[in-house]
Amino acid sequence: ATGLVMHCRAGFESEVAAEVIALCGRHGISGVVRTKPDTALVRFTLDQPHDWQALLAALPFSEWIFARERFAWLGSIKDLPEQDRAGFITQHLVALYAKTPLRFGRVSCEFADTNEAKEVSGFVRKFAPHLEKALGKKGMLAMKADAPTLHLFFETSGACDFGVSMPEDASPWPMGIAHLRMPIGAPSRSTLKMAEAFFALMSEKERASTLRAGLKAVDLGAAPGGWTLQFAQRGVKVSAIDNGPIAESVLATGLVEHIRADGFVWRPKQRVDWMVCDMVEQPARVAELIADWFVTGRCRRSIFNLKLPMKKRYVEVEKCRALISARLDDEGLSHVMRARHLYHDREEITAYLALI
Ligand code: SAM
Repeated sequence: ATGLVMHCRAGFESEVAAEVIALCGRHGISGVVRTKPDTALVRFTLDQPHDWQALLAALPFSEWIFARERFAWLGSIKDLPEQDRAGFITQHLVALYAKTPLRFGRVSCEFADTNEAKEVSGFVRKFAPHLEKALGKKGMLAMKADAPTLHLFFETSGACDFGVSMPEDASPWPMGIAHLRMPIGAPSRSTLKMAEAFFALMSEKERASTLRAGLKAVDLGAAPGGWTLQFAQRGVKVSAIDNGPIAESVLATGLVEHIRADGFVWRPKQRVDWMVCDMVEQPARVAELIADWFVTGRCRRSIFNLKLPMKKRYVEVEKCRALISARLDDEGLSHVMRARHLYHDREEITAYLALI
C-alpha cells in the first residue's frame, strides 16, 4: 500500500488528520496528510510503501474515532474513458493482480459525503453494478466471506483511487453511512444515534448478552426519550433522568420510570447494568461523571456522548479517554473503551465503556 484513504463527516478532516498521524506514529509509520476543508475525505501518503495487510492490522478500524471508513490505498486510475470506464478499471486491476492471489469479496464504489459530490454519487450508483459484472467476468471476485473488499473512491467520474480493507475490520456500512429507519414512536432523531452505536461500537455477542429483558439502565439527560426507547424496545427497564418531559410513546412501553432530577447528582440505590448519558455539558465534566459511576460500582457499561463544540476536538477526546482510563486503572478495573464519530453524530462523538 502507498497510503490510506479515510472518509469522514465534512468539516472533520483535521480531526482525521490528527488521528491518522497519531495512530501511525505509534507504529513508527510516517507519511503526509493530503486533504482540503469540507471535502469529507482525507488521504495519507506513506513515506515508504507497506504491506497492506500489515498496515491494516496495525491500524484496526475499532481504534479510529473520526474516520467513518478507512482503506489501504493501493493506487489511482486516471483518465477513465467515458465509453467504458468499467472495462478500463477491470483491465487495470487484472494487469496488476492477475498473478497474485488477490481476489475481492465485495466491491465498494464510493464518493465523498458532501453536497458537491452529489453529481458523482449519481454516476457511482449507476456504475457500480457494471463494474462488479466486469470484474466477475475476469475472475477477480471470490465468493468468500473473508476475502478483502475492493474500495474505489471516485472524486470525479473520470478518476478513482482504489484500495482494500478486510470485511471484519471495517464499518458495518458502506462508507460508514448508517442508513437506519426511525423506530415507531421515536420522539427524536437522536434515537438513531443509539441504534447506530449498538452496531458501530458493540459486537454481536455483546449486544446479545447486554441488551435483553430483565436488565436495568439509567439514562441521564433522557428527554424526550429517544435513547430510552432503544433500551425499552429491547426489554431493558430504564430510569429516565431529566427535568424535561419524556414522550408519551416512550412511557407507553411500560418499562420507563421518569425521574425529574439533576443527572450530575442523582445516583441509583443499586448497581445497574447500563448508564447512558446525553447531557449537553463540557466533555471533561461528562468524562468525570462516567468514571465516577464505574469506580463507585454503580454500572457495568455505558454509552455516552461527548459534545465537541471546540476547535481542537481530537485533543479534547484524547484528554477525556485518558481521564477515564486513568481513573478505572487506578481502581484496578479492567475495561474496554471504544469511541466513534457516528454518522448520526454532529459536533460530538459517542463512546462505549464496559468492564471486562
Ligand atoms: N438522548 C435524548 C433523546 O434521545 O431523546 C436527547 C437528550 S438532549 C440532547 C439533552 C437532555 O439533557 C435535555 O433533555 C436536557 O434537559 C438534559 N439535561 C441537561 N443537563 C441536565 C442535567 N444536569 N440533569 C438532567 N438532565 C439534563
